[in-house]
Amino acid sequence: MAKVKYRYNPETLSYDRVTTTTGERMTKWGIMFVASIVISVIYYVIYSHIYDTPKEHSLTGKLATLKFNYQMLSQELDHVDQALSDIQKRDDNIYRTVLESGPIPASKRQAGFGGVNRYESLEGYVNSDLMIDVTKHSDKILKQLYIQSLSYDELIVKVKNKEQMAICRPAIQPVSNKELKYAASGYGWRMHPIWGVLKFHEGLDFAAPVGADIYATGDGKVIQTGYSGGYGKMVLIDHGFGYQTLYAHMNSIGVLEGSEVKRGQVIGTVGNTGDSTGPHLHYEVHKNGQHVNPIDYFHNELSPEEYVRLSEQSQKNDIFEKW
Ligand SMILES: [Zn+2]
Repeated sequence: MAKVKYRYNPETLSYDRVTTTTGERMTKWGIMFVASIVISVIYYVIYSHIYDTPKEHSLTGKLATLKFNYQMLSQELDHVDQALSDIQKRDDNIYRTVLESGPIPASKRQAGFGGVNRYESLEGYVNSDLMIDVTKHSDKILKQLYIQSLSYDELIVKVKNKEQMAICRPAIQPVSNKELKYAASGYGWRMHPIWGVLKFHEGLDFAAPVGADIYATGDGKVIQTGYSGGYGKMVLIDHGFGYQTLYAHMNSIGVLEGSEVKRGQVIGTVGNTGDSTGPHLHYEVHKNGQHVNPIDYFHNELSPEEYVRLSEQSQKNDIFEKW
């Protein structure tokens, strides 16, 4: 029910009923409506200056979380960096040292990315500094991992070469102990018993019966066969990695020039050809074109005691070759 309003009339000393037209009421409501909107806007402006809107509040929370995540990521990268540093030290001090590669210079390991600014796209944000720091750190680790992987690639090749070298390197006795009468005439200077002159004996002589098998002492390729002056019938094998072995005074040759041989393969038999005074094998090992003592290349089959025995026997200096 609509309220009925009265107004006191001092002239008549009575209450007159107030009547309001529809137009007046519309105007009044209109003013109130506009006023309420204006007040609302004022409230909103003041409130939003003092407090975040729910959306802003949510975004602020997300931003804080993001910043925290970046900080955690930065800490994790520090741990990765430490682990990588340990791997680099092991690589330089153990693997590369054992494989005779030498350490990688720090300047190469720590080299950064040059040229254009890679982080331009990260500039202009609230957390730009943090984002750029973390990205730089991550890039640095990636670069170091790349250098490390190159080092491992290099070492894998070295290991494979070492394996191949172990197969090819002269490492056994060229005549079986069963056939061996004794090893005579060691490597080195010796005095000729009849002529009384010093001469360097460039190999090791194995006294064995004519026809006893001679074995290739490492994998390789036969690069020379046939009769060669004082050596008589001989075989020269190239083992790669700077190693060659020479077998002389042979009775028969069982391999062709250019053929590949395996360690332990029979390449011919003991004989007495060339400047030889009795059946024996004259065996030489060459390293980078230089004669070396063959006794140091029997690692695969000599025990320390056998090494001493062979070494002593070879000092007897029984002369098997005419000079
Ligand atoms: Zn000899």
